[in-house]
Amino acid sequence: MPFKPIIGLEIHIELKTKSKMFCYCSANYFGHPANTHVCPVCLGLPGALPYPNQKAIEEVIMTGLALNCQIASLSKFDRKNYFYPDLPKGYQISQYDLPLCQKGEFLGVRIKRVHLEEDTGKLFHEDKFSFIDFNRSGVPLMEIVTEPDLHSASQTKEFLKKLQQLVRYLKVANADMEKGQMRCEPTVNLEIKKGDKKHYTPLVEIKNINSFRFVEKAIEYEIKRQFEEFKKTATEKQEGNKKTRGWDEKNKKTFLQREKEEAADYRYFPEPDIPPIRFSQVEIEKIKEQMPELPEVKMINFKKIGLSDYQAELVTKSAKKIKTFEDSLKISKKIKAKISPSKIANLIINKKINSPQKIIDILTREKPTISNEELSKVIDQIIENNPSPVEEFKKGKETVIEFLVGQVMAETKGQADPQSVRKLLREKLDSA
Ligand code: ZN
Ligand code: MN
Repeated sequence: MPFKPIIGLEIHIELKTKSKMFCYCSANYFGHPANTHVCPVCLGLPGALPYPNQKAIEEVIMTGLALNCQIASLSKFDRKNYFYPDLPKGYQISQYDLPLCQKGEFLGVRIKRVHLEEDTGKLFHEDKFSFIDFNRSGVPLMEIVTEPDLHSASQTKEFLKKLQQLVRYLKVANADMEKGQMRCEPTVNLEIKKGDKKHYTPLVEIKNINSFRFVEKAIEYEIKRQFEEFKKTATEKQEGNKKTRGWDEKNKKTFLQREKEEAADYRYFPEPDIPPIRFSQVEIEKIKEQMPELPEVKMINFKKIGLSDYQAELVTKSAKKIKTFEDSLKISKKIKAKISPSKIANLIINKKINSPQKIIDILTREKPTISNEELSKVIDQIIENNPSPVEEFKKGKETVIEFLVGQVMAETKGQADPQSVRKLLREKLDSA
């Protein structure tokens, strides 16, 4: 029986704003003593009123824009009611029918919605006791829901990695899975062909996943399990029914946790303490302007200037690598060194060098060098031609020397070694 896995994702990502979602407590709680980042609002004390964090709202919109979503002109918060000790109010402030962003697309996967809510407290169990730490309670939490457009465990893992890269690049989240800053719950079932009829296995949501490796393993396990179960029982999906299974890393298995609540069980209703939020096109445009050029766009541009697919992929892996690459290009251009971008990329990828100046120094050293005598002449000339920068240097403005190095490098067409130029220049300036 041929089959096709159908996988959708629900992803929660903590935003790295300074303060929490609805109060002024610091949202930077990781590793801090329990219950030290709390106030009446995030403890859910009676009478405390929520005050929305504008930065968090803007960050969700920016993420929505990067995921090609439609941004709501009217949005609101809702109460999602359920009783669990990590949620002292008895409800979570979330978004129901008017999320901030909807109907996007990322890497060929449709994004159903991106909404904003608050994180819950954290439970600890020791012996017969349970403890609650409310430092995490009320931390801004962005929820991204995809349509079930993924079809394998490895594809799902890659998608999540790219999404992590994106939110880090946008500087809205650290999204470290091991720290619980990014949590994902894949929903998995199978489309099985038997004769010319298609069958669908019951929907399962997998919880307890805290690394990219486990995402892959849990989905792979679940695919096999569902296929075996279908062969035995031929049980099919029932509309509106979803089972929750937890990933047990020790036994490398998923295990049945509970039947999933229906939306109706949460008795959603509009949060009466926060008025609806309206956005004008101008405000959305403003957020768009603050958005950095996305890694995919950079990747295309880098390929245009001669990087291979592989190089472009690796150089755009992090914001830091992109900056190193772009700064190196800038220096190379400034000193008219005509260094091939591909060579710069190689040093970043293979030698893991992250100092642009060092990269340029290495690559210019490969070039034919001019004699010390000639270099000395050029430097004298540059000093003579640039009286005011020289004057500034003598007055103590040290950074001016880089300008003069640049001039010498340009004059020698990048044939001199910048380090010797810098040294020689300094000697001459000091003695002049
Ligand atoms: Zn608080
Ligand atoms: Mn949620």
